[in-house]
Amino acid sequence: MTKPTTVSGHEGLQLEQALIFEQDTEGTTAVDLPPIPEHVGRLGTFASDELLGLPGLSEPEVVRHYTRLSQKNYSIDSGFYPLGSCTMKHNPRLNEKIARLPGFADVHPFQPASTVQGSLELIDTCAFWLKELTGMVAVAMSPAAGAHGELCGLMCIKSAHDAVRSTRSVVLVPDSAHGTNPATAALCGYRVETIPAKGVGRIDIDALRSRLGPDIAAVMITNPNTCGLFERDCIEIAEAVHEAGAYFYMDGANFNAIVGRLRIGDLGVDAMHINLHKTFSTPHGGGGPGAGPTVLSEALAPFAPVPMVVRGGGEFETEEHAGLGAAQDSFGRMKGYHGQFGVFVRALAYMMSMGANGLKQASGDAVLNANYLLTRLSEELTPAFPGPCMHEAVFDDQFLKGTGVTTLDFSKALIDEGFHPPTMYFPLVVQGALLIEPTETESKAALDQFIDSVLSVARRAKAGDVAEEFQAAPQLAPRRRLDETAAARRPILCWRPKERDENVARQAAE
Ligand SMILES: *Cc1c(COP(=O)(O)O)cnc(C)c1O
Repeated sequence: MTKPTTVSGHEGLQLEQALIFEQDTEGTTAVDLPPIPEHVGRLGTFASDELLGLPGLSEPEVVRHYTRLSQKNYSIDSGFYPLGSCTMKHNPRLNEKIARLPGFADVHPFQPASTVQGSLELIDTCAFWLKELTGMVAVAMSPAAGAHGELCGLMCIKSAHDAVRSTRSVVLVPDSAHGTNPATAALCGYRVETIPAKGVGRIDIDALRSRLGPDIAAVMITNPNTCGLFERDCIEIAEAVHEAGAYFYMDGANFNAIVGRLRIGDLGVDAMHINLHKTFSTPHGGGGPGAGPTVLSEALAPFAPVPMVVRGGGEFETEEHAGLGAAQDSFGRMKGYHGQFGVFVRALAYMMSMGANGLKQASGDAVLNANYLLTRLSEELTPAFPGPCMHEAVFDDQFLKGTGVTTLDFSKALIDEGFHPPTMYFPLVVQGALLIEPTETESKAALDQFIDSVLSVARRAKAGDVAEEFQAAPQLAPRRRLDETAAARRPILCWRPKERDENVARQAAE
């Protein structure tokens, strides 16, 4: 496969695009402004005639620049997005329409409560259904993402221990945990200790039991876990954890696999965050806002953060200050205003349009799709664990053994087939992992097309003598292999004109 090179750098209708600063033409602007009339400036000595360094482009150049960039952004709206753990599912346009209604989109957090009763009721109703679906007594709505919700849960746990002057200092986390779990515990000042998984991808309950003691503040478990498996021993775990005087935190980012089928309150969980942007639809993945409301048990509810929406004599009000009213024992505030209100609107619109049966079917379909994919891909790939999975399927790199092709090479080859690579090398407990989450969104036809492509790439890899070809993939994408480590470790986030660098160098030399 050799690609022709072009004079323009364009490839077919994939247009090459320079940085906007590199397209600068001095004196060009996209707008015509009238000359500034004579006036006396008020900036005094701060006034400056120097150019700001903004690039000069005409209107069509600006429009083309951003349109081309937008077309390079792969998204769930353009195709199947099999990233495991991320739950990239279709976001119904209905939710967007509702979130854009002026009554929701144009309210301001400083408005008097009497003028935003509908918005406060929406937060309250969304909270009601989250409690209903989890069987928990309270929910903190303000956390802005999953990891932020974890922090909220652990801060509640810390407050509960502080309230009884307990100095427990250790949080137990299984080795299959999402990286945010140990990071959250560490941020709260806890020491993190790892609990090994049993060979079958589930937590080793005997190892957990033997480590429980008077120094353990909490146990954090993801369920379904990052191996795509349901932790069956949760009730036993909860009993053991509570007996030891610790709290049971559940990472609920994978709630989309069980919603409508299981109330985690019945398992004895004390706190769990819900990624509204995963389970209840909201576009994410491009850094857009998410929301991580945290449901709480009776023991932790008093410590929930402010603000809280409360009903005071028929009207909705907000409790803004810790130490007052319903927020008597609150640990304080962790987010400006009320949280990600637009995400609440989308989540509630999703829940109400789906209904109880619809939500139950969505989790069922997500699990069915993952198992279909697991079963068919097992023809050539090697599943990391025996038996069925929940909402995502994990494979290890055994099937590539001896081919010289790595999980990374394999994933890059999928780009040439027109598929975004699955999550790679995560969970860490699986050698060379490929983690695939199809979600309920995809049709059987879409899954079959993906599966057929993956199987054919796997057969090609196994046919032998193709390591070099795989190492050169992707061949058909606008960019080839990038130095992803350098990009992550030494990101260049600012564009600077060359002369400025030269000036800095000259000044340094003087
Ligand atoms: C996505 C995810 C998180 C983190 O959620 P963010 O919204 O990205 O902060 C935590 N745990 C698990 C298992 C996840 O899948």
